[in-house]
Amino acid sequence: MSEETIFSKIIRQEIPTELLYQDDRVTAFRDITPRAPTHILIVPNILIPTINDVETEHEVTLGRMVVVASKLAAQEGISEDGYRLIFNCNQHGGQEVFHIHMHLLGGKPLGPMLA
Ligand code: C5P
Repeated sequence: MSEETIFSKIIRQEIPTELLYQDDRVTAFRDITPRAPTHILIVPNILIPTINDVETEHEVTLGRMVVVASKLAAQEGISEDGYRLIFNCNQHGGQEVFHIHMHLLGGKPLGPMLA
């Protein structure tokens, strides 16, 4: 049994956040410490601690996360200029919150991927 993180409370709307989207599978909200003009986190409503824990049964949910990211990018007006989608995994990936989340970053040139 995995430990809940702060993201479970955000998903249940128990703590304030700038919620941008929610449906039966995923939730999207603005990152509390934005690293770009647009910095949104898209998370599954169920707790999956890391990308290592993704199973075939999660395919629809992960697909939904990408669809929502694309729609939010359009809503933010950054589709044409472009943006970056990132999953961090474990220590070397720099993961801090152990509830998988896709970072949607854009609104400025982001430079080389590992900068
Ligand atoms: O991928 P990683 O686990 O490092 O990213 C976690 C992200 O969650 C950070 O960008 C952090 O700013 C964000 N966060 C948040 N709201 C919280 C706690 C963390 O947006 N309450």
